[in-house]
Amino acid sequence: MEDSPTIQRLLNASHALGLGSHSSIKSTSMPMSKSCSESTDLDINAVPSSLAFRYCSAFWIGCGGDSAKPIPTQMLQHRLTSAANSAFVPSCFLPEKATQIQSIVEPTFLSSNRELVTAHQSIVTASFLADNIEGDVAFQTSKWLHRQIQDNQSRLKPGTLLLLAWHRHDPEDCTMRDIFKRFGGLKSRDVRIFPSTHELYHAQEKLGDIRALDQIADCAPSRWSFRPVTCDNTSKCRLGVSGVLKRTHSCGSDHVILHPTASDVSKHLQCLSRRRRMSERRTRQSIGRWFHQEFVEDLVSRGEFRVFVITGEDTSALRKRRGIVMEIIHTLELPDKELVVTVLHHNLAWSRRPQGHNSADLKELEDFALYIFDALRNRPDWSSNYESLEIGVRLDIGISPASIGCRYFVNEITRIYEADFFAEWLAQPGTHICKAVAEAIQEVLMVPPGQD
Ligand SMILES: [Zn+2]
Repeated sequence: MEDSPTIQRLLNASHALGLGSHSSIKSTSMPMSKSCSESTDLDINAVPSSLAFRYCSAFWIGCGGDSAKPIPTQMLQHRLTSAANSAFVPSCFLPEKATQIQSIVEPTFLSSNRELVTAHQSIVTASFLADNIEGDVAFQTSKWLHRQIQDNQSRLKPGTLLLLAWHRHDPEDCTMRDIFKRFGGLKSRDVRIFPSTHELYHAQEKLGDIRALDQIADCAPSRWSFRPVTCDNTSKCRLGVSGVLKRTHSCGSDHVILHPTASDVSKHLQCLSRRRRMSERRTRQSIGRWFHQEFVEDLVSRGEFRVFVITGEDTSALRKRRGIVMEIIHTLELPDKELVVTVLHHNLAWSRRPQGHNSADLKELEDFALYIFDALRNRPDWSSNYESLEIGVRLDIGISPASIGCRYFVNEITRIYEADFFAEWLAQPGTHICKAVAEAIQEVLMVPPGQD
């Protein structure tokens, strides 16, 4: 129970805080204990060819058409400015640039009127990148990209990075499936997509991330070792009760059944029903399969912390990148589905010290997030399954039941390329996570300035 007062103070503060509160806590990374890493330092520090190659130009690729509705918390609004007046306002908010982008991309990604530009967080990120590397970033659609790679011929210039973006990824989108299939088997590193096909598929499968988190918890200090039990629905049931039903290849709260009925269990869980079990191999290969997990009541009653970790250069750190906690947001969904969002952390100075919690309370949560972040980057499969963590990640962190000590645990590893930044709640103009992600993309993937 030793962590409980700290966590309770943070939760109290979360409800007490208003918009735009700031904290100035600097984070430090905690190295993972050696015994938990299966690979040698040499393996882990080696940069694979996919990251050793640097790209000289980039395309932002908007995936999904008009039917893909924008998610309001991913959209940023800014008044049309006649000239960039802030390092935090990128060129997509300038009238000329906004008009140019608007003529190409779907209106759900960027729209404007006489006063305002509304842009998706990924366009804002790509726009920061464009401003930093002097215009070598263009904006296009997935249909355009599909045309460039037809007939097994690429019409793309060597050295091109393709930054794929969507509101909500649709695994059924044929154009997207073709693109991921095509680049998944591509041997040449001259042109690549971000995220990689391998990482996207691994993340969508969900169970690989859960197994990785279980393995990390096995080696973690006891205060960070809690994990909800997960049954993958392939053999003898590990849970014995229905718990929460979840499905692979889903997004957000889609395909999550918090309180399953007997019919849900019989329909989706072979491990608990009398239906004949599918072979383990066949089950693992099927897309959109169900599994179940121990129900953690506190996720519903106390919400989750969304911790944004973005990397920065540090020659002494693993592969010369170190995770820095940029922002901590607490979210709680009320019974009427309204989402209460509170910004707990900001990397600028305090503008108003919230009552009820102090920097030490946040430090403990930061330390936990960075421990998990480093452990994921230390895994032998980091380059295939966790490559995007070289840029950053959003860790969604819950609290275990009071009966087992109110410990933090990672509920989901939300990849940075599809994490909602909650831009409208951030200190305005709400672009600092986009800016940090753009800088990390530039440092990890683009040709350094002056080396064309
Ligand atoms: Zn089961």
